[in-house]
Amino acid sequence: MSKKYNICLDIGGTKVLGAVFNGKDKLVCKVKRRSTDQGAESENIEAVIIEVTRLLLQKANIKKSQINAISAGVPGIVDSKNGIVVFTPNLPWRNYDLRSAIEKEFGAKFYLGNDVNVGVLGEYRYGAGRGHKNIVGFFIGTGVGGGLILNKKLYVGHEFKAGELGHLIIDENGPLCGCGNHGCLEAFSSKKGMAKYILSQIEAGRPSEMGEAIDEHGVFKSKFLKMAVEHQDQVALEAIDQACHYLAIGAGSMINALSPDCVIFGGGVIEALGDLFMEKILAEIDKYAMPAIRPSVEIMKASLGDYSNIYGALAMIKDAEKGKRK
Ligand SMILES: [Zn+2]
Repeated sequence: MSKKYNICLDIGGTKVLGAVFNGKDKLVCKVKRRSTDQGAESENIEAVIIEVTRLLLQKANIKKSQINAISAGVPGIVDSKNGIVVFTPNLPWRNYDLRSAIEKEFGAKFYLGNDVNVGVLGEYRYGAGRGHKNIVGFFIGTGVGGGLILNKKLYVGHEFKAGELGHLIIDENGPLCGCGNHGCLEAFSSKKGMAKYILSQIEAGRPSEMGEAIDEHGVFKSKFLKMAVEHQDQVALEAIDQACHYLAIGAGSMINALSPDCVIFGGGVIEALGDLFMEKILAEIDKYAMPAIRPSVEIMKASLGDYSNIYGALAMIKDAEKGKRK
């Protein structure tokens, strides 16, 4: 019995996705689970990973001994060299040695990385970014995440902290961001940022169907924003215009700084409203990217949808096995 299966996980604040790949890198089985409740203990979250992995083994009808490696993307700052979750904003992990825990449980190698970095890596190897060498990725969801591929390698920076493109400061007088600064890209262009704008307009007496869709955490499901657009909800359309305006500024600035060969937009919001977002971003980006650089940059949508991180996790295993990572 050969050890030929790779288990890839995407651990989010509200859900865990998992997939099994066979020896030919074909996805043979997948599961989706809502979990990682905020406030849960580290052990419980680790238990969720173990549970989803076991579920995958059962569903794919394979044994623990047939696992080649397990790999996961998690939100926050991740020491991918030592397999430690240093800090994660939405989960109660601090300097948590996830690698030891998982390797002990399954007797297989375990790799992990920051979720958005891993997502960009997935798009680079298996998705929209294939064949490109330098990629800037923006993932728009509850927050705005970022990732950089430079010279064909994931750039993690000093102490694995690079790629926080959601915290590019676009307007120092702008709204307060979750990080404590004002006017970060995320404060305008994330679901939270858009929700804040919409709520301010409702408070000022303007009607919007999004009022119903925004929950107590100041977030909404992308499908409700899509519906509001279909109904020509003016406040929702303004929030999107604003989000795209600032994404164009952020992407333009990154283009000027790095001269990437492509910029990829992904995440739940782009999954639901990609064409509209791309149209608006493309209409503005030429104003902010330098004319000498802009023509050599391709602007595109992520192509792996919900599975960018899962494929990125697979790429992490492949890289480790090729000895590209240390
Ligand atoms: Zn910020």
